[in-house]
Amino acid sequence: MPASLARLRRAQEVMRERGVDALFVGPSADLRYLLGYHALPLERLTLLVVPAEGDPALVVPELEAPRAVASGAADLIDVRTWTETEDPFRHVADVVRAAGVSNGAILAVQDRLWSAFTLQLQESIPAEGWVAGTTVMRELRIVKTADEIAALRRVGAAIDEVHRQVPGLLRPGRPESEVGRDIAELILREHDEVNFVIVASGPNGASPHHETGDRRLEEGDAVVVDIGGTGDGYCSDNTRNYVIGRAPEGYAELHEVLLTAQRAAVAAVRPGVAAEDVDRAARGIIEDAGYGAAFVHRTGHGIGVEEHEDPYIVAGNDEPLVEGMTFSVEPGIYLDGRYGARIEDIVAVTASGAERLNTVDRELTEVPVA
Ligand code: ZN
Ligand code: ZN
Ligand code: ZN
Repeated sequence: MPASLARLRRAQEVMRERGVDALFVGPSADLRYLLGYHALPLERLTLLVVPAEGDPALVVPELEAPRAVASGAADLIDVRTWTETEDPFRHVADVVRAAGVSNGAILAVQDRLWSAFTLQLQESIPAEGWVAGTTVMRELRIVKTADEIAALRRVGAAIDEVHRQVPGLLRPGRPESEVGRDIAELILREHDEVNFVIVASGPNGASPHHETGDRRLEEGDAVVVDIGGTGDGYCSDNTRNYVIGRAPEGYAELHEVLLTAQRAAVAAVRPGVAAEDVDRAARGIIEDAGYGAAFVHRTGHGIGVEEHEDPYIVAGNDEPLVEGMTFSVEPGIYLDGRYGARIEDIVAVTASGAERLNTVDRELTEVPVA
């Protein structure tokens, strides 16, 4: 059985357990996950309809049908096309009716389906209640299979390879954006897509999601490089810190604190431990060093077919970790107007601890100035 049909069947199982009668999925990571179809998010409706019992179908605009067929979706399930002058929601209603979904149904809408579509769905399909698609999808996606972990391991090695080449790109006088373009090219050599490139130099490093801009690198800068791409449908995400020439005052010490915190957080990972306890392990060390207020984000996020997904490694999330979960461990310290640093690896929860899917040297890398 092809992997994506197995996933659809598993989704139907979860729906029956949860009392959800049908699930509607538009272009999204969930659609890629369930069907392997990378649909374009357009004003014309593309919608996967999954009834709890019976056969799922994909409703697509006629002009998108060749793409849907090329993706292999038509080999798995019925692909129903609608023409420019038809109402696509009538097709959706037909699929739902054919599966025997009755008026008292509970229907789930994928979390990121546009309201323009959700509102029309609610008008065309009678239901007792509507719930978020995550009711079904969270359970499927949060624990990875061995194949998924293997894909994340490959893409982790790929982004490590890019980081190994970053020192050669960091020269005084080069704008961040130019370095960013070079990094994007390297990511593409190792992945199918570039997801993001953050090159945050000097004081820009104090903004965790800095937009790579026209600031020119200077001797004595600390540079935060956070990069990711997609390979075989799975995402990479890795952050390392570099200094051009000698590290600025206090930076090497700050980086040591971060290394200790990151190591402690990874060491805390094992099945049964609450997600928030991994955050605590990193945060405690950063607080003790006096940087508590400078660690302005959660310690990590799940990763898979999306860069950011469940589970979130954050205070307040007492969900126990389970073997097969994959997430980032990325404590950071940000000093306004001066510099910042973040160390990020993706880890997979194993039977007894954690496997790091990134292994490139995480010590502070000093790039010699010619
Ligand atoms: Zn981020
Ligand atoms: Zn990152
Ligand atoms: Zn991340």
